[in-house]
Amino acid sequence: MKEIILVKNGELALKGLNRSSFEDVLIKNMKKHMRDLGSFTFTKSQSTIMIEAQNEDIDLDDAVDRLSKVFGIAALSRACVCEKDFEDIKRTACEYLAEELEDAKTFKVEAKRSDKKFPMKSPEISRELGGYILSQFNHLRVDVHNPDIIVTVEVRDQYAFVRGNNIKGAGGMPTGTSGRAAVLISGGIDSPVAAYMMAKRGVELCAVHFASPPYTSELAELKVMELLKRVAKYSGTITTYVVPFTKLQEAIRDNCPEEYFTIIMRRIMMMISERIAKHQNCSALITGESVGQVASQTIYALGCTDCAVTMPVFRPCIGMDKEEIIKISRKIDTFETSIQPYEDCCTVFTPKHPKTRPRLDDVLKAEAGIENLEELIDEATENARFKLIN
Ligand code: ATP
Ligand code: MG
Repeated sequence: MKEIILVKNGELALKGLNRSSFEDVLIKNMKKHMRDLGSFTFTKSQSTIMIEAQNEDIDLDDAVDRLSKVFGIAALSRACVCEKDFEDIKRTACEYLAEELEDAKTFKVEAKRSDKKFPMKSPEISRELGGYILSQFNHLRVDVHNPDIIVTVEVRDQYAFVRGNNIKGAGGMPTGTSGRAAVLISGGIDSPVAAYMMAKRGVELCAVHFASPPYTSELAELKVMELLKRVAKYSGTITTYVVPFTKLQEAIRDNCPEEYFTIIMRRIMMMISERIAKHQNCSALITGESVGQVASQTIYALGCTDCAVTMPVFRPCIGMDKEEIIKISRKIDTFETSIQPYEDCCTVFTPKHPKTRPRLDDVLKAEAGIENLEELIDEATENARFKLIN
């Protein structure tokens, strides 16, 4: 039995004339996600992309698992190819879907006939095949409204295929169709979720992480790389910069009033990230901030942070509760890594009483206490370490 994978585009279908180029990006992304599994051929037809493994020992389970994380796919399924012959279609349906049909209580058949020369019309195929399946699996009932399994038969020009239920795809838009943005990534729960959410909208990711050794450990940095690796299963490769932040944090501690430590630190993170982002051809920054979560995330504090840069700052978690963010982090499998207890530079020198209603004038005055700020920012940016995370 020859098995193939069928992929249904998501929102791509809405993109009119751009559709074909969107599909090309989607195919390129699918190839990247599966490149170490073996070689595949991809064929576009209507809103379906058909994927065939080039040799028989390729693990299709693994291929489907990878594809279920590729953005731009609404649904996918495995299908069995058969002759354009109704006897062969019947046999294939009952053999190929035997296990699923055994487990189901109810089913229906949907037939599509794009080859109009095929002697049976779609309703006839559905009816006849439905009857045959009932005769082979006595426990089954037909339910046209809410069946446990939909058996789909498609008769195309060259061949026919049979498939069972669809698997839900990752949705969203193909990575790379919405430009590039740099995510400020910490070891926490929120920023990996923010990164995932923007990647889902088709944004290609770069990442910037601030490390303050010896206040933060090497293990903390490894944890962040592990988080990015998990996000990269969805987003594809993430170009990452690790910025040495110790001197800047010490400069803040030594020169600024304590209640402004965090807000100034966040502003400086934004300034450095914006420089790296420009260098990396990014058009926006991404953070995991959510209104009111901590003192540096009141709308007043966020306003002061925004003023540090001219690039748009995207905060996809902004209106979410922690519980909602955690739900996504579990889904994308970053939660267990995020809750490992390592220091982040945000927890170094935290003020006892941070300003929750900072005024920009006061923040700028406090920040001006660091006389060589520009130099320190240049130095940190230049010394950022580059990593490719796959
Ligand atoms: P998270 O779970 O993302 O760490 P948080 O609730 O801990 O969020 P903060 O520590 O205040 O929030 O950080 C807010 C945002 O600032 C993070 O979501 C992230 O985008 C950015 N950020 C914080 N620490 C770092 C860091 N060390 N390097 C890069 N970005 C950071
Ligand atoms: Mg954090």
